[in-house]
Amino acid sequence: MNSFTYTRVHNAREAIDAFLGSPASFYVAGATDLLQLLQEDVCAPGTLVDISRLPYRDVEAGPRGARIGAMARLTDVADDEAIQRHYPLLSQALKETASTQIRNAATIGGNLLQRTRCLYFRDPAAACNKRHPGSGCGAMHGANRINAILGTSDHCIAAYPGDMAVALMVLDARVQVQGPNGARVVPIDTLHRTPGDDPSRDTTLQPGEIITRIDLPANRCAGTCAFVKVRDRATFEWALASAAVGLEMQGHTIRTARVAVGGVGTVPWRLPHVEGALAGKPLRSDTVAEAAALSVRGARASGQNTFKLKLLQRAVEEAIIAAGGQS
Ligand code: SF4
Repeated sequence: MNSFTYTRVHNAREAIDAFLGSPASFYVAGATDLLQLLQEDVCAPGTLVDISRLPYRDVEAGPRGARIGAMARLTDVADDEAIQRHYPLLSQALKETASTQIRNAATIGGNLLQRTRCLYFRDPAAACNKRHPGSGCGAMHGANRINAILGTSDHCIAAYPGDMAVALMVLDARVQVQGPNGARVVPIDTLHRTPGDDPSRDTTLQPGEIITRIDLPANRCAGTCAFVKVRDRATFEWALASAAVGLEMQGHTIRTARVAVGGVGTVPWRLPHVEGALAGKPLRSDTVAEAAALSVRGARASGQNTFKLKLLQRAVEEAIIAAGGQS
């Protein structure tokens, strides 16, 4: 591991100044992902700017909305009674994430920004356009069982690994950001970038910007939502495929649906075709199966991950039925 400078800051202004004042700066809070990247020599920071003491840990939730501080720990949010009552989808997704120990340390902001688990990205000796632009993509014709089938490009097929962001897509989250040019709001569906011809940039955040808070509007699907995660083992494992669903029901008819999936896309992936196919339909196994079949529209498998085409449809189907089963 290379040597680096460490500095702890206490407000956003100090953080941004410290970040921009040194070359190769990285923000660090819970360090659950960054520590692995350092140990694996995947990145070599010049300066680590510790933002864990920034005053963004409060969690407030009610029938009219939620405000979740970016430095809150995953456990703080998953176990918050108001979150469990008004945003059970978020609580469920967080409880499916990593291990208890990781959830006690990892922050909400850091979880949104975690890096891919692609084997070649995590191996500094391998070709990887995301880690080393222009070096190629080892996964494209290699061990790509965990990689993406949606949103891929000829330069990168890395899957976004998180669970929480998938639930936040359904909940229509707004990400509050503070940066050198002031504050701005980033809709969750524009925070992450598909790889295109530049896989090195995972998000639309600008240098020095910090996530300070996640805002959620009122949730009309608190009683009709579900998160399904399929993985190789029951705990402490990333999704091979996940699905978050929120339904607005009118009797046994689905009035509106919101569906997002994880583990299969290069970014948290919304499924508007599936949502459209569900709207106005009765909640029946045949209509759900027909809608879920549209999950793979535009998908492209790369060899070892071909099984995800079927797995994704099954996960979406199961999540829709589970969400509707609560109505
Ligand atoms: Fe790197 Fe992306 Fe290829 Fe993985 S899929 S090796 S992250 S370029």
